[in-house]
Amino acid sequence: MNLHCDLHSHSTISDGTLSPTELILRAHEKGVEVFALTDHDATEGLNEAALAANKVGLHFIPGIELSVTWSHQTIHIIGLGIDPDDEDLNKGLKELRDFRGRRGEEIAHKLEKAGLEKPLEGAKKFANGEILSRTHFARYLVEQGKAKDVRQVFKRFLVRGKPGYVAGKWASLEDALCWIHGAGGIAVIAHPARYKISATRLRQLITEFKEWGGLGFEAISGSHSPDEELRMSLLANQFELFVSKGSDFHCPENIYRELGYLQDIPSGSIPLWHSDAWKEKIGVNKTGELE
Ligand code: AMP
Ligand code: MN
Ligand code: MN
Ligand code: MN
Repeated sequence: MNLHCDLHSHSTISDGTLSPTELILRAHEKGVEVFALTDHDATEGLNEAALAANKVGLHFIPGIELSVTWSHQTIHIIGLGIDPDDEDLNKGLKELRDFRGRRGEEIAHKLEKAGLEKPLEGAKKFANGEILSRTHFARYLVEQGKAKDVRQVFKRFLVRGKPGYVAGKWASLEDALCWIHGAGGIAVIAHPARYKISATRLRQLITEFKEWGGLGFEAISGSHSPDEELRMSLLANQFELFVSKGSDFHCPENIYRELGYLQDIPSGSIPLWHSDAWKEKIGVNKTGELE
């Protein structure tokens, strides 16, 4: 029943600090058996991760975490079991990355007005490739001594109402689900308790997500409290969604979000790996055991 899996993580391809290979080795070391790399709006790490996973005998699932704007809110949708070379997905990713580039310039402009020096150059120093994330700005500001850690930078500079905030204009929910399904994947609402929306709007989001064929709900997340995990699992049951779990690991320094350190799926909920879609699109792990 409770597969040793971790279906949400980040590498240096987006805003994580470990390379895809380092991430796989760490997941293996922590006893994870089924693992997904889900970088923000990027698939470049998937081949490297798959090779590394093959070497150590870890069952690897190619994934992604798509940025979505739904009803003026940024929402994250995970795709699991995607084909990284799918053409429509890649066209969509290009749009998201173009927006990231433009937003980065706007953020930098605003931070400069707030008295910070060379924020764009600084953030880019922390980014590996095409994905420029607010996390990279945050790491630069920590380096500059503007706050003690990344969390504090977000609070003071990067969230709504703060000097460096720029509203997201990401993919629509419909597009994100079409790209994921077109690339052969399963869609999952990431860390559902993290969104600053009312219970009614969360239900509305789930309803629309289901209308577009979404199946999974990440009730068990490294960013949820035990109470949130329970509430989100009950919500998944009500809406007949399958429950997924993922640490949302970004870096070893955050001791609260270790790879694979996750609660079991509550007994009343159905794990995503028990769905027909999982069996069809992802299959079983190496030993043929899913329970
Ligand atoms: P972006 O997609 O560039 O807007 O950046 C979003 C990322 O920033 C998330 O995936 C998290 O890794 C990180 N993040 C968002 N909010 C916070 C926060 N309050 N504290 C620390 N990191 C955050
Ligand atoms: Mn992130
Ligand atoms: Mn996220
Ligand atoms: Mn994430």
